[in-house]
Amino acid sequence: MDDILEHAGFATRAVRAGHRRSGEGEQAEPIFTSSSFCFASAAEAAARFAGEAPGNVYSRFTNPTVRAFEERLAALEGGERALATASGMAAILSVCMALLRAGDHVLAARGLFGTTTSLLANYLVRFGVAVDFVPVTDPSAWAAAMRPQTRLLLVETPTNPLLEIADIAALAAIAHAHGALLVVDNVLATPALQRPLALGADLVVHSATKYLDGQGRCVGGAVVGPEALVGKEIFGFLRTAGPAMSPFNAWVFLKGLETLSLRMQAHSAAAARIAAWLRRRPEVRRVFYPGLEEHPGHALAARQMRAFGGIVSFEVEGGREAAWRLIDATRLLSITANLGDAKSTITHPASTTHGRLSPEQRAEAGITEGLIRISVGLEDPADIEADLARGLAAARGR
Ligand SMILES: *Cc1c(COP(=O)(O)O)cnc(C)c1O
Repeated sequence: MDDILEHAGFATRAVRAGHRRSGEGEQAEPIFTSSSFCFASAAEAAARFAGEAPGNVYSRFTNPTVRAFEERLAALEGGERALATASGMAAILSVCMALLRAGDHVLAARGLFGTTTSLLANYLVRFGVAVDFVPVTDPSAWAAAMRPQTRLLLVETPTNPLLEIADIAALAAIAHAHGALLVVDNVLATPALQRPLALGADLVVHSATKYLDGQGRCVGGAVVGPEALVGKEIFGFLRTAGPAMSPFNAWVFLKGLETLSLRMQAHSAAAARIAAWLRRRPEVRRVFYPGLEEHPGHALAARQMRAFGGIVSFEVEGGREAAWRLIDATRLLSITANLGDAKSTITHPASTTHGRLSPEQRAEAGITEGLIRISVGLEDPADIEADLARGLAAARGR
């Protein structure tokens, strides 16, 4: 099976990769809820502990269901190795802890996921790691900010909530010219729409919580990349520090991957329709969606993504009051900050995900008081539009 899958298409790998049938002949992947595993002999135990023989030891770092998820995700991202973590933040933390030391410098995109920014700016700096933030869309700013000590470049594309697009190949070239590594957070695009490793990135990080699950059930994360980095340095940290994914969560994500491509196509088609619909509404000042031709990253997104994804942001006239009236008047959309769910969600970034920033920081990041973000789900698009129409009427004060 492994040799057939090596040359198989994305959809085939999404359904088949990672599962080796046990002696029971099961069709669906089993969940191995076993904290530890038994050895045939003391010598075998010693060899497995030393990493000299393959096989399971203890579910902090080896579990068959978790490994099935890791192998399937690696097959989809086109990476040699994937490691699952307890959350997306645990994946990003593990990359930093495994690859950085005091004196190193990190270049990170402005407008990263807020908790990632906080991890770097409030915690990593305590351990002697310097961090600078640069505009995501301007490779020349990244080149200018490089230092001899720069070890990691960290970027998300598209960004959340403004859907800015980073040029992955250009940033990889800058990183490699300085002996640094490019890490891409591929949460919003997923491997169904964008494969950063093929564009030159060294590592991909995921919050599996979002589209990989796709139905808003479990928290998890992953790191994908070459065996030398992921299988050795990052595995070593994870095994020691312990932010492991549970087998149950791994099973949910494994099944989520089977429908990832279909879901991303459906999310993207509905989001494109809703972005175009919002753009025609007089109450809407601006729509942020990389599929719109006027989006500054449109041409780049068309080159490096297969479709434009399921997140749409827009700005309403009337600031926070109008935005809150709009959100409160919707009846179908869920008011929650999660994204990548079959159920559409709506959120007001300035008072939720970006609420801890100062007004100046928010203004600099482009998070205005009238900004609303929707994660377009799998409902009928006409029903989502009808709900947003209710909201827009309320925003106008009717
Ligand atoms: C949610 C998210 C994370 C963090 O993932 P958790 O699973 O919540 O820890 C990181 N990056 C992006 C882009 C996210 O949306």
